[in-house]
Amino acid sequence: MGNHKTATPHFKYNNNGLINMSKFLFPTEYYDSTYSIDFEHYYSLGYRAVLFDIDNTLVPHNAASDEKSIALMKRLKEIGFKVCLVSNNKEQRVASFNEFLQVEYIYKAGKPKARGYLAAMEKLGTNRGNTIFVGDQLYTDIWGANNAKIHSILVRPINKHEEIQIVLKRIIEKPFIWLFLMKHKMKHS
Ligand SMILES: [Mg+2]
Repeated sequence: MGNHKTATPHFKYNNNGLINMSKFLFPTEYYDSTYSIDFEHYYSLGYRAVLFDIDNTLVPHNAASDEKSIALMKRLKEIGFKVCLVSNNKEQRVASFNEFLQVEYIYKAGKPKARGYLAAMEKLGTNRGNTIFVGDQLYTDIWGANNAKIHSILVRPINKHEEIQIVLKRIIEKPFIWLFLMKHKMKHS
């Protein structure tokens, strides 16, 4: 009898590769914005910690903490949540962002690896069953949360919101620009 040692694949390809992929890339939930998440509800369900990506999840890419993000952290602490930032960015960026938030943080987290999420839960003293992660990117944030096997919330990137607003502004501007050009043309013809 042979000693069959079979290596466990990270994921098994079968006839339905997409369904297998979804195990890694699908978030548990999706929200339009971090700021529309009903955190009080999650607390009532038994969740005790929230892990956050920073860039495009709490603030626009590379932006400093703002009133909204500071107020959210204050609210979460008041609810009773423990909070940790989990960022792939350098310590300088993460520490300065945290200056007015005063929560725990993990820098160079190595997302989508599980280790940053596990380190965050260790810091907070919580576990897979009572910790939520919020982030904007499937290939780093959500994949990582799934690797760590924790509840994941995908949010629409903040910069994309801005882009949409810019696009809308352009659409609104268009008829006025057109009118202006028409008028201008009429004047000169
Ligand atoms: Mg991000």
